[in-house]
Amino acid sequence: MSENILLKLCVAFLLIGCVAEHKSTDKEGSNEQVVDYFADNGFGNAVAVVQHPAGVYHKGITYVAYQGPLEDPYVASYNHTTNEWKGPYKAGISEMGKDPNRKKKIDNHGKPALLIDDAGFIHIAFGGHGGTPADGDNPLGNHHYGKNLHAVSKKPLDISEWETLDNISLFGTYSQFVKMENGDIYLFYRHGAHRSNWVYQKSTDNGKIFGEPVSFLKHKRRTEIEAEDSWYPWVSKGNGDDIIVAFDYHICRDSKNRQDARGHIPERHNVYYMVFDTKTGVWKNVKNEPLEMPLTKEMADMKTLVREIPNDWTFQGIADVDPYGNPQVCVLVGSDVGEKRSGPKRLQHFRWDGQEWLESKNTDLPIGNGDIDVISAKEVSIYLESKTSNDVGEISKWDSFNGGESFKKGTVFLQRKNTSFVISSLIDNPHPDARIIVGEKQEGSDFKKMYLLGDNGPIQRSQKEAKVLKK
Ligand code: ZN
Repeated sequence: MSENILLKLCVAFLLIGCVAEHKSTDKEGSNEQVVDYFADNGFGNAVAVVQHPAGVYHKGITYVAYQGPLEDPYVASYNHTTNEWKGPYKAGISEMGKDPNRKKKIDNHGKPALLIDDAGFIHIAFGGHGGTPADGDNPLGNHHYGKNLHAVSKKPLDISEWETLDNISLFGTYSQFVKMENGDIYLFYRHGAHRSNWVYQKSTDNGKIFGEPVSFLKHKRRTEIEAEDSWYPWVSKGNGDDIIVAFDYHICRDSKNRQDARGHIPERHNVYYMVFDTKTGVWKNVKNEPLEMPLTKEMADMKTLVREIPNDWTFQGIADVDPYGNPQVCVLVGSDVGEKRSGPKRLQHFRWDGQEWLESKNTDLPIGNGDIDVISAKEVSIYLESKTSNDVGEISKWDSFNGGESFKKGTVFLQRKNTSFVISSLIDNPHPDARIIVGEKQEGSDFKKMYLLGDNGPIQRSQKEAKVLKK
């Protein structure tokens, strides 16, 4: 009973905190308005789980990247010792977001991923959605739009000036950075539009030179139906030299096909998992069996399935490993409801116990996008955006202490009435005060207020500084 009251008080307090714009007193004694967001120029789906990490904590400072006006990448930083914000600075110019005549107004595929190399230079990859035929032949897939670009800070740990380099394939999209303990940088992305291989490019010199793209997931024409194999992986660092991948399958139907009158639809199925041992260069499944690369649909089904989900659709796999290397995977699952994907969904959690994949039977988890943090086989947290029953948008952490059999709502980082959020993956190596980046939808606008959230809620900023010129 008393716990219940305490919980309600906490929620009420949070809600009050949300609507009020706090006043604080600065050193000189004059009143200064502070707000919960750090910038108001997030644009479109300013952050997402797939383009990641969108933030890195490094030597006392959290660096964050997001899509801003005209779909250009913006970078800001927060110093946890001095409580000082810097930026946001425009870190590059996207090829997308500039054409007022384009049918799809905001492309959203070129959101930045961010990495800090061992010399302290900050890197972002951004702006791609497969390139166009004007960019020439795409040897690993098809074209769509934009140019994937790589920009680097001109000075170490200084976000104020950037240089765009010409050293990665412009056909990339959905950029995902991983840095290994020895400093090697891996940039993972899809090498083109839907009908393209997924690849990585590796750099061993802090991102000055990247090797040629290496394919790891293969797009392929199907013979029995009018469609092509396509993939959506989410790539992250495992233990030691391992890179882990959770992925689902997109059946990329021809726009006119004899199997489905709806033509090409965002239909995705199944959830898979595999590991890349970067020391040996060998890709493996969860049982340590080597995989022939690039992985085909046939081999994926045979060797890497976490769960076959043939009827419901899937969206956005995420994964993490425990200290023994045993993975846990989550994926959104829901009924086939056509383009809008608004049908009932559930967030499904799976755990590899060393022998088999266990599917959590819990119904506790809300429906939402987010990221997973595995502490041990039993202890796991999921960071989520969701809607509570009374139409309150919420960012919260859901904790399990029994390997996902049941989840309980833990920290609530942010709540807002009558709105929704977009959420990033977990910040790399996060400070407890800054774990995730979210964007809050503004009614009647394509702009979003951007928040940096941690165990103490949003990191605040003066209202004056958080108001960014939107051009
Ligand atoms: Zn497709």
